Amino acid sequence: MTETGFGSHSPEGTVAEIRASVTAGRRSPRDIVDHSFARAAQVRAGADGLNAILWSDIAVAHNEAAALEPRLNGPDAPLLAGVPIVVKDNIATVGSPTTCGSRILAGYHSPFEATAVSRLRDAGAIAVGKTNLDEFAMGSSTEFSAFGRTKHPLDPRLVPGGSSGGSAAAVAAGITPAALGSETGGSVRQPAAFCGIVGVKPTYGRVSRYGLVAFASSLDQIGVFGAHVDDAAAVLQAIAGRDGLDATSSDAPVPDYGEYPPTLRGLVIGKPREYFPHQLDPRIADLCERALDRCRELGAAVREVSLPHTELAIPVYYIVAPAEASSNLARFDGVRYGLRVTDHGLRGMYEATRSSGFGPEVTRRILLGTYVLSAGYYDAYYAKAMRARTLIATDFDEVFRSGVDVLFTPTTPTTAFAAGSRTDPYQMYLSDIFTVTANLAGIPALSLPIGRIDGLPVGGQLLAPHFAEQRLLGVARLLEHSLGAEAHR
Ligand code: GLN
Repeated sequence: MTETGFGSHSPEGTVAEIRASVTAGRRSPRDIVDHSFARAAQVRAGADGLNAILWSDIAVAHNEAAALEPRLNGPDAPLLAGVPIVVKDNIATVGSPTTCGSRILAGYHSPFEATAVSRLRDAGAIAVGKTNLDEFAMGSSTEFSAFGRTKHPLDPRLVPGGSSGGSAAAVAAGITPAALGSETGGSVRQPAAFCGIVGVKPTYGRVSRYGLVAFASSLDQIGVFGAHVDDAAAVLQAIAGRDGLDATSSDAPVPDYGEYPPTLRGLVIGKPREYFPHQLDPRIADLCERALDRCRELGAAVREVSLPHTELAIPVYYIVAPAEASSNLARFDGVRYGLRVTDHGLRGMYEATRSSGFGPEVTRRILLGTYVLSAGYYDAYYAKAMRARTLIATDFDEVFRSGVDVLFTPTTPTTAFAAGSRTDPYQMYLSDIFTVTANLAGIPALSLPIGRIDGLPVGGQLLAPHFAEQRLLGVARLLEHSLGAEAHR
């Protein structure tokens, strides 16, 4: 393996350390920004570049840092004071482009900002860059961006996972301690697992989707990356909660994600047998067992459970998500946003714009989605997929009602794979096998590093009932502490 040395986390410190040093006046926000840019430049120069960041501007970041200065009054300073973050480029920001990794939106500037980004700024964070992604967040490798693929921070021949691969690689390479990504079917947890960091997909409705470019609206949710559980928890704290601009956002109260119990005593962890099939790489299974042993040492009981409809998840997801995408992406027509390719007449303009603006995977999804929604096929595919989706969600409800507090599974069936190695789309879709279920059910889920195979990170996944993020983060923190350095070797 080519060791590029970019795998070490956040040399500039954790979210809490940065906040503490900035509020105590030991470091200025500008100094933190410079540090982050220096790290990004170092990463760009080495190993022919990560290509994690599509846009950044140090002058803009310096302005944000300067604007923050008056708000840094000791203990009353905001939660993320001075913390640099990067934002996936399908989340709208003002003053920087929002491209979704697509030619059709190259150079597009949003007139408004996503609520999650505004809340991060209110909390004192500094957005230092927009990160690369698979076009319109469709993919699992960040190879399918119109602006080139993102590389894995530990080995440039490998993919960082996707679709939020730019955000994951930036955090893993130590450019920022935390980042925003988005999840429709695992796009935060899978790259977090591949890159050896923490990724959280909140409950559907926990975080406002206002300003997140829609892929599949019944599944989409903004998620967070952190070098450590605490980093991710702090960012989630800042962005969670009801937003009047997103009718699907929930008004359930947001608890203190910094609070967690001292042990796992009394907690029941379910181990779903469908996520440990006999074909599973035994080395991944062993690392999961080690993590479960740690949970037992911390006082938890581990119980084998079943989620019998799991095998339907990939086919169901790859009907529901393209169906919704085909409808959501109809707005990119050459009239309202971004690219316009003129051709004969209005219809010619639509066709030419969409044919040259969308890449092959996005086109495939639109075709697939249009097909499953079309008259005559709707019942056979889409309506049936929706019924199967309900069965998957019911599996989770039942297992949580039976006294299981959280579930533990591997996040992915493999470690990071080689770029160019998954040319068959179905092979690519299979990387989502353990992650799409949480999106279909709308429940929160988290991936954290639990060890390595041949030097490459392996993620363990925790799943919890709706709005139980606090429990999820608590278990993850205790497990992270218990594994210590073992999580990274
Ligand atoms: N890999 C999945 C897909 O291609 C999930 C993407 C996502 O979560 N945004 O659809």
